[in-house]
Amino acid sequence: MVEVRMVAQRGLRFGDRRSETLRSRLLPTLMVIMVLSLLSSCAKESLAAPPEALGWFVDYLRIDTTNPPGREQAAAEFLRQILHRHGIATRLLVTPAGRTNLYARLEPTAPGAGSSAGALVLNHHMDVVPPGPDWSVEPFSGLEKDGWIWGRGAVDAKSLGIAQLAAFLELHRRGGPKVRPVVYLAVADEEQGGAQGTGWLLDSYPELFADTAAVLGEGGANRVVAGRHFWWGIETAQKRPLWLKVTTHGRGGHGSMLNPASAPHQLTLGLARLLNRPRDFRVTPEARRYLEAVRPFQSDYFGKMVADLDDIVQDESPNERLFPGVANYLLDTIQINVIETGHLINVVPKQASARIDIRLLPDADEKAMLEEVRELLGDRIELEVLLSSSKAEASPLDSEIYRCLELVLGESAPVVPAFIPGVTDARYFRQIGVPAYGFSPFVLSAQETRGIHSVDERISRSAFLKGLEVYSEVVTACSGS
Ligand SMILES: [Zn+2]
Repeated sequence: MVEVRMVAQRGLRFGDRRSETLRSRLLPTLMVIMVLSLLSSCAKESLAAPPEALGWFVDYLRIDTTNPPGREQAAAEFLRQILHRHGIATRLLVTPAGRTNLYARLEPTAPGAGSSAGALVLNHHMDVVPPGPDWSVEPFSGLEKDGWIWGRGAVDAKSLGIAQLAAFLELHRRGGPKVRPVVYLAVADEEQGGAQGTGWLLDSYPELFADTAAVLGEGGANRVVAGRHFWWGIETAQKRPLWLKVTTHGRGGHGSMLNPASAPHQLTLGLARLLNRPRDFRVTPEARRYLEAVRPFQSDYFGKMVADLDDIVQDESPNERLFPGVANYLLDTIQINVIETGHLINVVPKQASARIDIRLLPDADEKAMLEEVRELLGDRIELEVLLSSSKAEASPLDSEIYRCLELVLGESAPVVPAFIPGVTDARYFRQIGVPAYGFSPFVLSAQETRGIHSVDERISRSAFLKGLEVYSEVVTACSGS
């Protein structure tokens, strides 16, 4: 286990001992040589977040961007106005369906910069999942109470959007990034798959992203236990979504009459066959890289599990030897989340449908999975693919941006390459060969991460403010400023 100082103790100040170390370790790269020649001009400047950032965050939480339907336009206008007030030009990029995305770019200022050092894209999504019932506070109030800031999106992902905005404005305040262009990209529709957001943008405006060196987005998996920060998890790989809607039809009628082939029966039997499908545990390179990376910071028992993984996945019941949650990294998972059919107890409905959330490991053959699902469901059930995602290489650990993250963040906690079961827009960038890294600057408690896609989402004021500082530090260092 590694004793870790909290990030609050470590604002980077140019000229202090730590930044001297940082500089000397970055020396081998051309980018940093350019940076060093410019450091004198920005010496002793603080990277504190703008004092308005907390107010922006609260105001941002008050904009209801529940997706569906999204309504990101108001959020994009809100962010745009802040950028305009600081003299930064923006573009609103609106899909034919009316979904709004926001793009702004700062060009590098160092002589000769910009041609070789690719852009750093800061990406977050403006939409949020529906809050659902049972909140203790109004989910779009942006309430600040007892050291917490409450609201849908407080963690996923409006806090990140404001951290990126604050870092972007700080670069601008200092005269712009020195070496790399930096892009602020606020997108629509991530929570429903991103087809109206990042997916559409990369298809429709490839020229805006042609020189991208790397993307920083959501999906960071930092490990904090009882207030101790064990590692910064930089998401470099994720599972692939395969979302399905399956529907079946049958004879309707009175509930008292025998009707074994009714739509609900067919659906239930088909879904049962699907759930009983044998599980295929396997260790992909992405899972191995992640589990090996966190192994030094875990118990001996965890270490033994990682060492024995290849044996364990051959077991008849691998789950018995796996830590809770680890199976997610070793399996294609099938989760039936919506079932829709009749609503009266004595009436046989004519139709029944289900929506199935399948998450594939990076090596999975989507076509083979679809064929298997079709076969298990049987001929009477129609299948529609709602969302799928092609294979993508994990983002590399030897890129300049990943190395920069290691150097800047590694001062406070180890940096590990994370593999996550969830899905983010990073996959769209990876599919076109652009490295994307999920990085959260916020060191959050379990209570805070539990609020993601759940009730009472909130972030502590102190974690938010520290995160702003960390993000600015990263963006400033990694854009060569
Ligand atoms: Zn998110």
